[in-house]
Amino acid sequence: MKTIDHWINGSPAPGTSTRSAPVWNPATGREQARVPLAAPADVDAAVSAAGAAFDAWRDSSLSQRTRIMFAFRELLVRHEDELAELVSAEHGKVIDDARGEIVRGREVVEYACGIAQELKGGHSDQVSRGVDVHTLRQPLGVCAGITPFNFPVMVPLWMHPIAIATGNTFVLKPSERDPSASTLIARLYAEAGLPDGVFNVVHGDREAVDAVLDHPGIAAVSFVGSTPIARYVHQRATAAGKRVQALGGAKNHAVVLPDADLDFAADQLTAAAFGSAGERCMAVSVAVAVGDAADALVAVLEHRARAIRVGPGNDPDTDMGPLITQAARERIEAAVGAAAAQGATVVVDGRGLKVDGHEDGFFVGPSVLDNVTPAMDAYREELFGPVLAVVRAATLDEAIALINANPYGNGTAIFTADGGAARRFQRAVNVGMVGVNVPIPVPMSYYSFGGWKDSLIGDSPIHGPEGVRFYTRPKVITTRWPHTNTAASPAAFSFPTAG
Ligand code: NAD
Repeated sequence: MKTIDHWINGSPAPGTSTRSAPVWNPATGREQARVPLAAPADVDAAVSAAGAAFDAWRDSSLSQRTRIMFAFRELLVRHEDELAELVSAEHGKVIDDARGEIVRGREVVEYACGIAQELKGGHSDQVSRGVDVHTLRQPLGVCAGITPFNFPVMVPLWMHPIAIATGNTFVLKPSERDPSASTLIARLYAEAGLPDGVFNVVHGDREAVDAVLDHPGIAAVSFVGSTPIARYVHQRATAAGKRVQALGGAKNHAVVLPDADLDFAADQLTAAAFGSAGERCMAVSVAVAVGDAADALVAVLEHRARAIRVGPGNDPDTDMGPLITQAARERIEAAVGAAAAQGATVVVDGRGLKVDGHEDGFFVGPSVLDNVTPAMDAYREELFGPVLAVVRAATLDEAIALINANPYGNGTAIFTADGGAARRFQRAVNVGMVGVNVPIPVPMSYYSFGGWKDSLIGDSPIHGPEGVRFYTRPKVITTRWPHTNTAASPAAFSFPTAG
């Protein structure tokens, strides 16, 4: 059985822990590797390596850092196939979808290649006689990332390229369910010339996370995952005095107005609900059909959902792969059953699906539920699977009120041909990322990604300018050279004001 190593101080490391977990192939239902679950001593070894590397790395020139980022970017391009196959084999998503996350993650590296532009400070000449002010942004020290299973390449790439390019060192604790991509990323950084200890990977579960949250050598923690864990991470790490960004779960609504092109909207919704088997934080899990749109929309959605080809992610004919675990499969099947029991209409039922030749895989078919109400569990819970709930609303205002009453606020979209309605929607909706005829409005890397309400705990979105702000702290320097102009700088006992 293959064992996946940690990556500490520039080399693979087996770690000291005796605990390990299975890494499944979700398409076959078979265990394909074991991942060690780090003990606190393993986290400490990674933090020590990152701490020891920090002084030299923060003193590296911007040119050196950007050269390494450019080289790393080239290696991501060259190893795209290998990365996509690893992701598909451990996560289950189709290869093209895995490529998509690699490309979107790589765009953050491209942003980090231009970090010199983002780190420019300000300068004010002659704020007082003979006095100038300038600003710097300096790195924090050792930063840590804790990431979810659903984007094993992209989500860590939201974090470490910016942290590293701004002069920090990094310890990544990726999801233990699909850990291999992170070890490959560490190899690519090393090949790109990143000094030992600047990027480290420690595999593990709650024990490793707690060791990260409590470690006095870590200055900042970036977390992406479910809301309860985001809240836990935020509370525990801020209590330990760390800077924390913590992105949580989602329940993303797409509103369809009667004037929308229903075929277009249904195509987009189908892809956004069932792509990656619904295991995306920006997946559309609720369609809000407004007024007359409902019956026609549900009819097209049914047709589209039934046409989805479910199979292993490495089959080019597959649209949708399996779920991440057997437990996830059982949870989704139970949720569809509970929705039916609570009064939803099961228009397409994904339960009980068997894929030929992959009978033990963690497959569930797509489900479309109609007449869902806000009181039902299928509406209230983040299912994180291939289930699209249709809620009917009489007006756009009712649809907006529904979204604003939902505790999550990650992404939302509106499908319409009416610019005025779209404008009203985008201004009134309490959600961090909004699409107009775009179902999954994930911001480009030079903007920042982040939801509102329970989808983001604390106040810091991720990557883009907010990422630079998160991984640096400002310093303001006020300068006088009295040797050249002593008469203009008499010492004063009263509080200094500009002369
Ligand atoms: P998760 O919260 O179970 O796990 C995320 C990380 O936390 C993993 O590294 C895991 O090892 C660790 N963890 C899990 N349980 C823990 C515990 N009890 N104590 C300490 N650490 C723990 O999330 P997941 O199932 O891997 O990913 C799916 C979730 O992530 C969904 O809720 C999804 O919406 C969310 N997500 C959000 C975004 C976003 O940008 N807002 C992006 C991707 C995924």
